[in-house]
Amino acid sequence: MSKKQRGSTTKIFMGLLIGLVVGILVYNLPAGTFKDDILIDGIFQLLGQVFLRGIMMMVVPLVFISLVNGAASMGDVKKLGRVGARTIAFYLVTTAFAVSLALVLGYLLKPGIGLDLGAIEQIETTVNEKTPLVQILFEMVPRNPISAMADGNMLQIIVFAIITGIGLSILGDKVKIILQIFEQLNELVMKMVGFVMLFAPLGVFGLIARTFATVGYAALVPLLKYIIAVYIGLILHAGLVYSGLLKGLTGLSPKKFYKKFFPAMSVAFSTASSNATVPINLDINEKQLGVSRNIAAFTIPLGATINMDGTAIMQGVATFFIAQVYNVPLSIGAILTVVLTATLASIGTAGVPGVGTIMLSMVLQSIGLPLEGIGLIMGIDRLVDMGRTTVNITGDAVCTVIIAKKEGELDEEVFNSDSKALSK
Ligand code: ASP
Repeated sequence: MSKKQRGSTTKIFMGLLIGLVVGILVYNLPAGTFKDDILIDGIFQLLGQVFLRGIMMMVVPLVFISLVNGAASMGDVKKLGRVGARTIAFYLVTTAFAVSLALVLGYLLKPGIGLDLGAIEQIETTVNEKTPLVQILFEMVPRNPISAMADGNMLQIIVFAIITGIGLSILGDKVKIILQIFEQLNELVMKMVGFVMLFAPLGVFGLIARTFATVGYAALVPLLKYIIAVYIGLILHAGLVYSGLLKGLTGLSPKKFYKKFFPAMSVAFSTASSNATVPINLDINEKQLGVSRNIAAFTIPLGATINMDGTAIMQGVATFFIAQVYNVPLSIGAILTVVLTATLASIGTAGVPGVGTIMLSMVLQSIGLPLEGIGLIMGIDRLVDMGRTTVNITGDAVCTVIIAKKEGELDEEVFNSDSKALSK
């Protein structure tokens, strides 16, 4: 992690802490113009809303552009044929499973119960109560992509972006310039997100101060429960799902895998960046786990770009958390939409710190939940990001080993040997 990133994480965390203290102090003030109009609905609201609207402003361009790039980066699939198709299928299925697991946890552990923000926020929920599944499915295809963007209709934007990306990747060199433009637009939106994030410490301060000034200490326990629920999901996914898949599909020892893979997990945990972990992930796959270079060189960078099971788990739990905090019941249709959008969001999430939480806005928006909820979890996001990134890259490696084994590209002797020192 660069010094700059560390600085901004600390500042956001400070924003949270100061917001918490100031919020609780204000909570204890007598009601009146100063408390209610100048602070809660004045300064706190202003800071929080400027930040949230900044994020909202970036959602449509970010989702569209990053998904076009994500889908275009699957272009090599053509070259790799069966391996490519299997890898992508594996990535998508495990991610969909991860969100579902998270939704079950969110439902069972109820992290948001105990905090009621429904009373302080006017929300118009558009959570699609009774939309039949068939309708959700066909409405994913936009009649008009421009109006889908204007309306912020996430599913439709996703479908249009993926088709655009696939088209670009099939056309390849013929559309080299457009591909480059999309890559450059990606740089641009990431930069702009960076600008909005510069305001995050103040924004988080405003949102948290407003929450605590209105509800007092009651907000602390739910936030803690949220963190714990995400970690339970992460541990279950890595411990049961990955181990089960590895053992079940290849007969290889999960214990051996984790022992050798641990250094990559530590890098992911400390940097909160899948991209930053690619080199060590590749190194361990080739030298310690016995995966052939052909396979790993394709699956690991692709996984760091499109496969984010940990992020999907966070998004699933966060969706329930926010729905509970705002007292919005989630219909079956809404839950299915979350599984779909969170799985697709993972394709568009860049492997750098914090983006998963910004992409969460797309998941929330797709079912009409208030984005204000993001402000609540943004302050503690780094803690969660470290864990989810670790799972993100572990998923890439597990898939890589399984595919390599199935393709006869795994040297089991190397896999089963004792760990070697990492190459420099
Ligand atoms: N930090 C995550 C990663 O690099 C992405 C995210 O969820 O924010 O994989």
